[in-house]
Amino acid sequence: MPETLGSEVRPLRVAVIGSGPSGFYAAEDLLTQKDFKATVDVFDRLPTPYGLVRGGVAPDHQKIKTVTNFYEKTAARPGFRYFGNVDYGTQVTLDELKAQYDAVIFAVGAKSDNKMGIPGEDLKGSEAATVLVGWYNAHPDYRDYKFDLSEERVAVIGNGNVAMDVVRILGQDPEELAPTDIAEYAVQALRKSRIKEIYLLGRRGPAQAAFTNPEIQELCELKGTDLVVDPREVDLDPVSKDCLAKGEGGPKAKKNVDILIAQSKKGSGAQPRKIFVRNLVSPVEILGKDGRVAALKLEKNMLVRAEDGSVKAKGTGQYETLPVGLVFRSVGYKGVALPGLPYDSRKGTIPNEFGRVIDPQTKTAIPALYVVGWAKRGPSGVIGTNKPDSVETVRKLIEDYKGKPAADGKSADAAAAFLAGKGLKAVSFADWKRLDKIEVENGRKKGKIRDKFSTIPEMMQALETTPTAA
Ligand code: NAP
Repeated sequence: MPETLGSEVRPLRVAVIGSGPSGFYAAEDLLTQKDFKATVDVFDRLPTPYGLVRGGVAPDHQKIKTVTNFYEKTAARPGFRYFGNVDYGTQVTLDELKAQYDAVIFAVGAKSDNKMGIPGEDLKGSEAATVLVGWYNAHPDYRDYKFDLSEERVAVIGNGNVAMDVVRILGQDPEELAPTDIAEYAVQALRKSRIKEIYLLGRRGPAQAAFTNPEIQELCELKGTDLVVDPREVDLDPVSKDCLAKGEGGPKAKKNVDILIAQSKKGSGAQPRKIFVRNLVSPVEILGKDGRVAALKLEKNMLVRAEDGSVKAKGTGQYETLPVGLVFRSVGYKGVALPGLPYDSRKGTIPNEFGRVIDPQTKTAIPALYVVGWAKRGPSGVIGTNKPDSVETVRKLIEDYKGKPAADGKSADAAAAFLAGKGLKAVSFADWKRLDKIEVENGRKKGKIRDKFSTIPEMMQALETTPTAA
């Protein structure tokens, strides 16, 4: 008589690929069901967990990072295991995972960035904001990047919260950042920065800005840098007035406009660095000199209502040239295709219905495969948005398995033995806690919250040379 999946004797065996918020929320939901038992092995290609909470959230936003306390509680639940330093696609394949687990949930986020598709995008000095974010956060993929911070004028394209992070980190006094968990090499580079003017470029108007209220308010209060808003930049056009009158964009949009109008009344201030807010402009070309960024060609936009009622930017045919030596493109993250999985190249996501991975040809669910987070819905929302998103997927997964007979005897021991048999040096959650402790201790010596390891060999060496009881 086969055992029933999700029972005490045969918990469902689930692998979660990716240990960011969406992966942890999926694990938490699976491990806290009242009448359905699961065990969850979370994999990450890095030794360290937490995805963008570690590698994306800005170092001066420490409070946001306390969400990891919640993830630690998940990690302490019976049935949870962490396998860091194991790369899906190169070190373990989908077929291997399917042999060890009943179901696999992909929580891989969006690893790449959107391209603008304008001439000059590949010039030296035209950088992806996401790369700068990874760099100042000591992410091993980005630590070796070099940014030319000797330029005095910089443009940031896009006005989402990633753009705000980038503007704030570049505009802020590095001594304010030094005691945080920012990478030490980044503080040193920022101390030498000669940046004096930062242009924050939104293609639509202030009533459609993607940033949220606390983020724009923070820019108004930076030490050493003035946020300069020309009153003409917040003189609302009829479309924006109509949007606000109808409550479009919610309280966020109205408050953003209020904050910018209040700031526009303060003039340009007396601090040494300036951030200039520009609206209704689209870069149409990045102009170069000797192979390097020298300026942006901007087209002035107007706002129009599209057929679906949304508000779009439309070029007016009026152009200006903005001399800048460095450009950060902050126009959104984008997912990448993964081996063995379908991929929607337009959205940058894994095709799915409520988290069930869908075969684009047959439009039917592919058994055993699920997706959560940015890989499911695209790069939107805040950390907490991932919670209901993961719960939705887990609900579908349980519907698919509850009460079904187990086909074979997949076990936790077999999965661990399989990984060890491949010679992989997986990092456990206890190992991570040791790394965590070492980082905090190293940081304390330097007057920082934490001194992050920024390479995988450094992390692995620290684990080898530190006694387990540390
Ligand atoms: P985002 O919020 O989607 O913003 C993307 C920005 O790029 C928008 O201003 C968009 O303008 C602009 N854009 C897109 N294509 C463009 C083009 N071709 N030319 C010019 N501008 C273009 O994305 P994000 O800033 O990467 O952030 C991703 C998610 O993470 C967001 O949900 C964000 O709130 C979240 N996040 C939150 C925090 C925080 O809570 N502190 C920090 C970082 C990130 P349109 O609006 O006109 O499309």
